[in-house]
Amino acid sequence: MNQYSRIFSGIKPIDKLHIGHYHGIIKHWLDWQYEHECFFMVADLHALATKYIDPKDIKFFVKDMVINWLATGVDPSQATIFVQSQIPEHYQLHLLLSMITPLSWLERELGDKDRHIDNMSFSNQDTYGLLGYSLLQSVDMLLYDAKYAGVVEEQVSRVELTREIARRFNHLYGREFGFEEKARASIKKLGAKKADLYEVLLTAYQQEGDEEALDKARYLLADAVNLSLGEQERLFAFLENKSKVIMSEPQEIIYNSNLLLGLDGQGESRSANNVIYLREGIDSINRKIRSMPTDPARVRITDVGNPDKCPVWELHKIYSDSKTCEWVRNGCVTAGIGCLECKKPLIEAIDIEQQKILANASPYLEDDNLITNILADGAERAQEIAAEKLIKIKEEMSLNY
Ligand code: SF4
Repeated sequence: MNQYSRIFSGIKPIDKLHIGHYHGIIKHWLDWQYEHECFFMVADLHALATKYIDPKDIKFFVKDMVINWLATGVDPSQATIFVQSQIPEHYQLHLLLSMITPLSWLERELGDKDRHIDNMSFSNQDTYGLLGYSLLQSVDMLLYDAKYAGVVEEQVSRVELTREIARRFNHLYGREFGFEEKARASIKKLGAKKADLYEVLLTAYQQEGDEEALDKARYLLADAVNLSLGEQERLFAFLENKSKVIMSEPQEIIYNSNLLLGLDGQGESRSANNVIYLREGIDSINRKIRSMPTDPARVRITDVGNPDKCPVWELHKIYSDSKTCEWVRNGCVTAGIGCLECKKPLIEAIDIEQQKILANASPYLEDDNLITNILADGAERAQEIAAEKLIKIKEEMSLNY
């Protein structure tokens, strides 16, 4: 990953954040925010795609989520934190790109995953919004020219779709009118000798894939003093048979989806209450960890176990130091410790982490204006970039009246 490159990521506000979000996603953000230009978005429009019947909860989760981002260390002076629906350019670009996105691409993406992720109870009521869900995700990335997009494994195909849409847009609109004729005229300006050489190198690269010829042609162009910068760029593009790049293609950074699993090692589920939320009280944490399933082979305390078959071990790997982890492994495989004993240091470690987050969240819980102001600043910064991008896109689509 290049330093200072732009990274985009977002979370949908359909529930409170839990420790899996913190360790699986937000901790990456905390590293990235000091080394890259980060845009972290609260994806409330995505939440609306499946929660449109009763959207009141979304509003609560938006604020709760931002409080948790801040309390865990996301720094609004380093990263741009914003709410998707506050940037009108998302709606506009969604419409514009819907004109060029083949229906089959969206149908391919319209699997069950979005419905299931949200525990959608009315999945027989598919909407136009749900069909366009994946396109809206592409819009989020393209609007900010993100070089990287942080996604979970199941969302990688969405980044691929984004690249396909960017490529299609560049193909459709990236060629200036009369590109080939203009390129030919620019070649002539090289002078007879250099023009001949350019043509030879062009043929060698385009017909035989000769990379050395490509390098030589690039060198020739970089050295061509009688060409303007625009003419040089045109001939660079002509060489590689490329059109102008208006939309850049993001690459994915994949989060560890295992960390987002529930306490029972199954998918997280609010109804099963199998996650530990950020800022959850100690009594509730205690109860949830104590009732976590362990290696089924440990029926009695004298039965040996295998940590690799136990979801408690997954949490130890996150929360415990190497000495405690060693104690867990040895104690488990020799039946030297009981499962409740094994869970004790985990409960303490999670509680310490939660207390810290709770303390950091306190000012935001006491003063609503702090969040409002942070989101207003973030929206201003995000919109500056998004608006500039949209103007360029509209120009390319001849919508600049
Ligand atoms: Fe799991 Fe710990 Fe019990 Fe082993 S001792 S089965 S790691 S809870």
